[in-house]
Order: sequence, then structure tokens, then C-alpha cells
Amino acid sequence: MKTIAVINQKGGVGKTTTCVNLASELGAMRKKVLVVDADPQGNASSGLGFQFDDSVSLYDIVVGNEDPKWALHSTSAKNVSLIASNINLVGADLELGGSDGREFRLREALQKLENDFDVVLVDCPPSLGLLTVNALAAANRLLVPMQCEYYSMQGLSLLARTVQMVREQGINQGAQIDAILLTMYNPNLRLTREIETQIRDVFGEHVLKTVIPRNIDLAAAPAQGLAIRDYGRSSRGGQAYHDLALEVKRLWL
Ligand code: ADP
Ligand code: MG
Repeated sequence: MKTIAVINQKGGVGKTTTCVNLASELGAMRKKVLVVDADPQGNASSGLGFQFDDSVSLYDIVVGNEDPKWALHSTSAKNVSLIASNINLVGADLELGGSDGREFRLREALQKLENDFDVVLVDCPPSLGLLTVNALAAANRLLVPMQCEYYSMQGLSLLARTVQMVREQGINQGAQIDAILLTMYNPNLRLTREIETQIRDVFGEHVLKTVIPRNIDLAAAPAQGLAIRDYGRSSRGGQAYHDLALEVKRLWL
């Protein structure tokens, strides 16, 4: 089982969109996929058609040590299961306080599901708090979606420092930024092309070949609780996420 954290402390860069659509494409390729929604806002959950209820959620797993088997839901996407978010997750950082092993709650939970899934995608919140550290501790691979904007570069160096800290503190000695995905890509903008050149110079082969264009269908699909594959797979966004899944499969699965 490979665990991929989709991570960037900046909001609105395409983490959730990437998580949901990569999951559904990999599911269509017959991988058994689990999406873990680690953002209290719950966008990945609703984007996969989940209706919020009082059932066991990631909060109960991380704070309450609940068995993750009770938290699995099916989704609108084929072969994709979900551990849903819950608004209570907002308080998880504080509730866990200084408790022992608080960084490893997600990793321990996922170990119990090792034989049930081929790949886990963790949708991280837009912060570098304890939920993100749990994702970093659990992950074999880090996938960082980013927009080609000036501030993205600064954000990336902050993330790189956090990843380094996670390594140095022994939380995950193998943690590194494995792949950067350029999202909401618009090749007609000079700024986009300039930043892309910079990023590819600095990060080389870690920048994925696939880029995700800005595409309105990708923004519209979540309102139906559907991944782009089940909403408009021939759209440019749909094709791009299909290509991304092929690239990720070739590299990691
Ligand atoms: P994050 O999870 O990093 O906060 P989201 O995936 O929620 O980012 O994306 C932020 C917003 O941009 C959402 O409204 C989403 O529907 C939209 N969006 C994401 N990717 C694209 C894209 N490639 N083209 C157009 N809109 C997008
Ligand atoms: Mg999100």
C-alpha cells in the first residue's frame, strides 16, 4: 500500500481537486483507492458525493483511537473509498495537546488497512498543523500541487523546511517533496511560463510532466459530488487528470 499525501499549506492551489480526481482515475485503472479527508472543511468528502452525518470520521480515528475499519465509506467514484472529515477536526490540534505519539495516529490507523488498499491519498488541510504532520508521518510520497505564481515559490520553501524538520525529528526519515504538480496552468500568461521555468530549474525531475490546465469543468464537478471522470471526462481537465494518473502509476505504483 502506497500512501501519498497531497500537501501544500497554501489554500486554493488544487489539493482537493487533485486528490478527488487522481483517486477516481486510479480507481478506474482497477487500483483499490482510499481517500482520507484530513481537512476540517471536508471538500474531498463532499466532492466524492459524501453526505455528512454522525458516523465515524477521521476525527474519531485521530482523537478517539477508533478503528478505521468503521470509518470506511463508498463514494461516487468506482473503487474509491473514503474516510470522511468532520468539522470537529478543527479542534484536533488542541485536543491532542502534548499526548504521546500524537504525530502517528494516522499512520497507525492506516497500518490496519494495509491489506485492503493499493493506494491512499491524503487530502491535507491548508496549514502545517498536527493533521498535516500526521499526513507527513504516514506518507511514502509527497505530492505538492502549486500554481505558477510568485508567492508559490516562497510557500514551497516553507514546506521544504517543514519536511526537513519532519525528517530530522525522526517523524518520517524518508520524507521529501517527491513531486510538484503545476495546477490551474495557463500557458498564455508570461508569468506562468517564467515561474514554470524557475520551478523546473530548481526542482528538475521532481516537477511532473503533466500539468493541470485551468478548466471550468473541474470547478463545477464537485457541486454534483462527482469526480471529473464521471462528470465530463472528455474535458481538458478530465484528460489532464487521466494523464496525471498514468504518470503517478508509472512512477510510484
Ligand atoms: P485546495 O484544496 O488546495 O484548497 P481546491 O482543489 O479546493 O484547492 O481548489 C480551489 C478552487 O479552485 C476550487 O473552487 C476548485 O474547484 C477550483 N479549481 C481547482 N483546480 C482547478 C482547475 N484546474 N481549473 C479550474 N478551477 C480549479
Ligand atoms: Mg482542499
